Amino acid sequence: MGDDAARIVSANNASLEEASGDTTLRPKRLTEYIGQRNVTDNLKIFIEAAQQRGDPLDHVLFYGPPGLGKTTLAGIIANELDVDLRITSGPAIERAGDLAALLTNLNDNDVIFIDEIHRLNRSAEEILYSAMEDFEIDMIIGKGPSAKSYRIPLSKFTLIGATTRAGSLSAPLRDRFGIVSKFEMYEPHELAEIIRRSAALLNVEIDENSLMELARRSRGTPRVANRLLKRVRDFCQVKGEGRIDMRITEDTLRSLGIDQSGLEGLDRDILRLIIERFAGGPVGIDTISAAIGEERVTIEDVYEPYLMQAGFLHRTQKGRVASPDAYLHLGLTPPAGDQLSFIDEGQECADI
Ligand code: ADP
Repeated sequence: MGDDAARIVSANNASLEEASGDTTLRPKRLTEYIGQRNVTDNLKIFIEAAQQRGDPLDHVLFYGPPGLGKTTLAGIIANELDVDLRITSGPAIERAGDLAALLTNLNDNDVIFIDEIHRLNRSAEEILYSAMEDFEIDMIIGKGPSAKSYRIPLSKFTLIGATTRAGSLSAPLRDRFGIVSKFEMYEPHELAEIIRRSAALLNVEIDENSLMELARRSRGTPRVANRLLKRVRDFCQVKGEGRIDMRITEDTLRSLGIDQSGLEGLDRDILRLIIERFAGGPVGIDTISAAIGEERVTIEDVYEPYLMQAGFLHRTQKGRVASPDAYLHLGLTPPAGDQLSFIDEGQECADI
């Protein structure tokens, strides 16, 4: 593998931990992976069937908001298949040659994981078409009249692509994934299990009420749950008596500005902006982005999914609208008018 390829890839499962800075909490086997049963139940069958036939697993596309376990599950699939995993991401692949170098270094049945696959540039994406479908790539070497096209055969591999927005994928790319799975936000009882497991791995004691409270305020997201647990652990270590209890938990959440519904400062800023400056909406996403000073994609991918899931925000064709619950949550009185009427007309936009 050339230096360029080495730069953008983490070559094995151990590197998954290094890449994420998370050495202990990431589950490594399907049995340790909590929730997302719609995704994992089917995958179990597909993995077993592929193994019985000695074939690679069909290409897999995972989509859903960040932090829900897409990268983790890609690592688990490679472990369950007992093959090597290579990790890269759409923005890290600058040239088609980078991707070609990665693909030509795969062995039979290996898994290559491309995070943020919707950000892959056009020339790299085109290489993927024949790589995914026929396990070969066409490379043009040289320029002008002396340019020559070479067909390079590849090992039979599995591509796992992850994206926060399946709608941004081109149709030819999306159609080449045989397995397409949507990740849903986690229920509080599932997050409680994840926190219980993480607490055991981190060797911290936490009482049942605190566990549930953290789960409720984790925005349906395991990454947030683990992050909150680590912050509560810090507070407990410095101010507590060895065991995480409700007093420490409440103190920590208050210090972090996380409210009863799990909203952070920026979530509340978005709602307040829509309500106070735009009479509840609809407001265009670019207007919100400019006023809040946060990138549009961050608002769309990180903040909005939970605000919508919690019922505080509606995404409509005319823009974003704050729900009556959003008013109540901020201690304001919802308007009596019919500003939400077009949502009832079934015009709410899909989230992808
Ligand atoms: P994504 O790739 O969707 O952004 P990750 O796979 O990086 O999310 O997951 C974020 C963190 O959450 C991981 O480090 C892992 O520890 C934890 N995690 C995610 N899903 C699960 C799960 N189902 N069970 C236990 N822990 C999980």
